[in-house]
Amino acid sequence: MIRENVQKILNELPRGVDLVAVIKGRSTEDILSAIEGGVKVLGVNYIKDLRSLFPVIDRKVSWHYIGIAKVEKHDLLRKRYLEIFDMIETVDSVDLAKELDKRCASIEKVMPILIEVNIGREPQKSGVDPDDVADVIREVSPLKCIKVMGLMTMGPLIDNPERLRPYFREMKQLFDYIRDLQIPNTEIRYLSMGMSNSYKVAIEEGANIVRIGTRLFEG
Ligand SMILES: *Cc1c(COP(=O)(O)O)cnc(C)c1O
Repeated sequence: MIRENVQKILNELPRGVDLVAVIKGRSTEDILSAIEGGVKVLGVNYIKDLRSLFPVIDRKVSWHYIGIAKVEKHDLLRKRYLEIFDMIETVDSVDLAKELDKRCASIEKVMPILIEVNIGREPQKSGVDPDDVADVIREVSPLKCIKVMGLMTMGPLIDNPERLRPYFREMKQLFDYIRDLQIPNTEIRYLSMGMSNSYKVAIEEGANIVRIGTRLFEG
């Protein structure tokens, strides 16, 4: 079932759009089925999930951190976890970027990061205000052990994906604007947005990473 779900979605995705399988609350067995189906990247919300999963799955996939960084910062900054992650998608402050840089320097790794954007300008949500994204990237881009590679957003919690379209569109405009600034030491390539109920609209609006959980694991 899971394998078929994965294959169906992979077949739907246009070339150049990457799938991140979001594994929160899923069993190791289900995650392994998804990998058999062709999943190449796992999205991790809770670092504690790595303790049992990484020894089993290891480098069969890439690992993206997509959790709430300020809640999990203590664990996220541990060397053993930084060694595992191939990308941190939810960097939402200059301070976090600086701490990541320092810790990554100590393990001689350059960590690809995305800047999380609060595109709905929702007071309770994490993410950088859209108006501040360029300044944040300018400030963190000289750091040697992180590399800004794009933007990520959750978007407001709205069921109807058509009502999310304006937010995705604004993200794409921001993404293009940031890319065209050509800030040194950045490589603005990835726009991560869209989940189970919204990934089609997100792709239409320019996403090239979609983060999907429910649709893969529950059909
Ligand atoms: C849970 C989650 C997703 C996937 O949500 P689904 O609706 O299950 O596809 C994507 N991104 C983040 C950051 C999440 O926490």
